[in-house]
Amino acid sequence: MHALSINNLVKVYSNGLRALDGINLHVEEGEFFALLGPNGAGKTTAIGIVTSLVNKTSGDVLVFGHNLDHDLAGAKSCLGVVPQELNLNQYDRLDNIVTNQAGFYGIGRRDARRRAQECLEQLQLWDRRAEIARNLSGGMKRRLMIARALVHRPRLLILDEPTAGVDIEIRRSMWDFLREINEQGTTIILTTHYLEEAENLCRHVAIIDNGRIVAHDRMTSLLMKLHREVFVLNTRDPVVALPVLEDFNVRLLNERELQVEITRNHDLNSLFRVLSAAGIHVVSMRNKANRLEEAFFRVTERSELASGELPARARAS
Ligand code: ADP
Repeated sequence: MHALSINNLVKVYSNGLRALDGINLHVEEGEFFALLGPNGAGKTTAIGIVTSLVNKTSGDVLVFGHNLDHDLAGAKSCLGVVPQELNLNQYDRLDNIVTNQAGFYGIGRRDARRRAQECLEQLQLWDRRAEIARNLSGGMKRRLMIARALVHRPRLLILDEPTAGVDIEIRRSMWDFLREINEQGTTIILTTHYLEEAENLCRHVAIIDNGRIVAHDRMTSLLMKLHREVFVLNTRDPVVALPVLEDFNVRLLNERELQVEITRNHDLNSLFRVLSAAGIHVVSMRNKANRLEEAFFRVTERSELASGELPARARAS
């Protein structure tokens, strides 16, 4: 069963901006899934549509088989959402915030109180229950939003940039908590522009760029691709036969162009040694980014990726 199924989803904002250009996304039940992409890629728009905060232009969204167009209540009952923006009533007590949320799902008062306690305890906020949200630190407010999102025991939890602006210690403890509830059966989708976050938590990943899904893969496969570089080498003389290059994947593009794929743990020196030994003289070379790498590098420098964060996307609006 798919926890989430998005088919050919399009969003054109009233100013004409095409934020989603026909995306397809399928997330299996039990998954821990990352929707990755630079700022402005369309992640929040996609999540906004799934959580019915944003109207779609066309396409279908199903949450555990409930089509948003025909069974919104059914879809919502399966869904918990932690938005990017803090949207708490700052002057309400923590226990009221969580209890009242349960009320929106038709859960009776006594049951709601019990569940609120359970969720606040899980997120280590029970001791602060009588305080107003305004008094909490940023990290605690985020935890409170998670507690609130879990009170009706959703089968699918969506978190939009859950750790943006949260310090590293809190980030790690949030990761532990999310891993735990995923192991207990909750499907989780998170949007992030931190590669490290997706790498640490998620088994599957989709990359969205410029309103399109540019990759949809297992995390391990994606990382393999990111650790690979493709070079095009121009040779002085025509290459009649390819030498045996055991550690490199080589293809002849034409008689004076070789395409070589190397993983980052191989160095170029060893490549040139083998080529020289085979009598092949390289006169120039260029890096050929694949589509996936382009998604990361198009408007960026490599050094930015080293920080583990995707760069903001320069984009005409
Ligand atoms: P992400 O979450 O990946 O950063 P968003 O979904 O927020 O991306 O934005 C995708 C694009 O849609 C951006 O170019 C953004 O400026 C634009 N956008 C978002 N919200 C609106 C809106 N209400 N009206 C017009 N354009 C919008």
